[in-house]
Amino acid sequence: MKTVLMNDVDEIEIKEMMMPKVKNGDILVEMKACGLCGTDLEKMHGQYTAAKPVLGHEAAGIVVETSEKAKQFAIGDRVFPHHHTPCNNCKFCKKGNETMCTQYRSSNLDPSGFSEYFRVPAWNIKQGGVLKLPKQVSFEEASFIEPIACCIRGLSRSKVSADDTVLIIGAGPVGLIHLQLLNDIGSSTLISDINKKRLNIAKIQGAKKIYDIADGDIPTRVRVDTDGLGVDVALIATGNPKGIIQALKSVRKGGTICLFGVPVIGSILNYDFSDIFNSEISIISSYGATETETKKALELIETHKVDPASLITDRFTIDKFEEAVSKATKGGGMKIIITP
Ligand SMILES: [Zn+2]
Ligand SMILES: [Zn+2]
Repeated sequence: MKTVLMNDVDEIEIKEMMMPKVKNGDILVEMKACGLCGTDLEKMHGQYTAAKPVLGHEAAGIVVETSEKAKQFAIGDRVFPHHHTPCNNCKFCKKGNETMCTQYRSSNLDPSGFSEYFRVPAWNIKQGGVLKLPKQVSFEEASFIEPIACCIRGLSRSKVSADDTVLIIGAGPVGLIHLQLLNDIGSSTLISDINKKRLNIAKIQGAKKIYDIADGDIPTRVRVDTDGLGVDVALIATGNPKGIIQALKSVRKGGTICLFGVPVIGSILNYDFSDIFNSEISIISSYGATETETKKALELIETHKVDPASLITDRFTIDKFEEAVSKATKGGGMKIIITP
């Protein structure tokens, strides 16, 4: 079978390899769709700081093999397998920091989500990480369960509500998923990017204001559009450190900024902390998602509260993975889906 792996010198390789062996408690899934995520690109470029580089974590497919201890799944089941699952029992889990659980990153899809077939470890199954898909949810839509779940968690950690004005920095796939979720919550959304095509999609998808970074200072324009107040929440949906400064300068007194995009290694915040104190700004971050959020994401897709399929611009087979990466790196499309 074909798979995409990272080698020892951080290069991607499209490889022919043996099918993963299913141990008791595992299942084997035939991949039907797997989203290419910004963090996959960061892993390939050696800039990722959060976990060891296994590629492809936005996968959906069909169960082709089960095992004695995974009898709740049958061959032919259509599933979304979550690549990381917490223990729900430790200090971190009990305090609501489930994605900081030491078990959370301990297992992953094997060998990668960008594989014709991959093994879902017993741990992920035991912890409820595998969701069966309703008939009306396509594999491509299901490949968005993970990123949507992460955005749901970010918005909940930012305590966003219907009467909030929110600035999203970055109109890539993750920025637009946030936009769709904010539309559902009822908040009003402003969004900034350097990519005009992406900003136009954001406008069509319901952003109240779009800001092209080339047209001048974002915080100044945000103040103009919020009666001088600033936004309640600024979400940073990019790894670019400049986004954090723009967010800090765009929130109102008492507002919140949420670090969502993974900052590149060595990002240093050069900002006057007295301003953060005097303006009582909360800085929060959001990493990953739990099954509370993956279930909610599936429900929102199923009930058409979000429309992830509208974000897909390109599809590439595993063979053409390098073309997909090159297109994504240039910001050419919106969401890119890898298919077998
Ligand atoms: Zn992702
Ligand atoms: Zn735990």
